[in-house]
Amino acid sequence: MAAFGLMLPGGGLAAQQTTPSVNYNLVFLDAGHGGSDPGAHLSDKEVEKDVNLTLASKLKGMLSAKGLSVLSSRDGDQTVTSEQRADMANHARPLACLLVHTTSSGAGPYVTVSGLAPETGALPALPWETAQASYVTESLGLESVIVDALTNVAKLKPVVLRASVPPIDSLTCPAVLLELAPISGGTAASDADYQQRVADALTQALVAWHTQALDAVAKAKAAALAAKTPQAGSDGGKGAIPNSGTGAPKPRVVKPAPRVAAPPGGAARMALPAEPAGLLEAGG
Ligand SMILES: [Zn+2]
Repeated sequence: MAAFGLMLPGGGLAAQQTTPSVNYNLVFLDAGHGGSDPGAHLSDKEVEKDVNLTLASKLKGMLSAKGLSVLSSRDGDQTVTSEQRADMANHARPLACLLVHTTSSGAGPYVTVSGLAPETGALPALPWETAQASYVTESLGLESVIVDALTNVAKLKPVVLRASVPPIDSLTCPAVLLELAPISGGTAASDADYQQRVADALTQALVAWHTQALDAVAKAKAAALAAKTPQAGSDGGKGAIPNSGTGAPKPRVVKPAPRVAAPPGGAARMALPAEPAGLLEAGG
């Protein structure tokens, strides 16, 4: 265990490692579409790319005010490909990835997690196209935190879905796609009050997710220390590692690994190697 480095809340490494670790303070926000890709036409005057950016920008400001760092896939009307969005997120190793879309059909918020089947265990590397498989379980945990907040804070009726909407399957982070549809009374996704309610809920959800993650890291660190000191604790030094809790991101075990290979347009793209999920929970 001592050979592995845990990324600590302060950003330091517990052991000598240079592999990128999860940045526990970072949220990746992806405003869908942009530039030459307008997305859906929400009305005569509104295109989706602009409404997405308004919501993402509002959320970015609110998360920043809570002390979280935000990496945006775009801050203006740039064209950004799905591959570029995944590249950005995967190199930054954020605690959560939130993809923001809006639509004029349907009702209320739709909260989507990748349709890939969860992959567990340590694989040497994952194909870029299905890298999210190792994170689906965590993504479902993030989804439940977001759905709770949309229900209880925003007083909305979120619908949960599983779908492989680009670039979600290529993301190596807990990832959720939010698509905001109108609500009753003709309130469009571009409505400022509606967006504020949603942004309030998402802020609360992401702050809660952040707190859960730091708690899990602190517990794992304390347990690792106890395992090194047999006389400490009452477990006889067996080094039991606490469960990271429901829905909380697992502390990342860092191991030496190649960085993401990202040849432009290459067919042999690989994501970061799958991390040995559950290793810390393996009981020592
Ligand atoms: Zn869209």
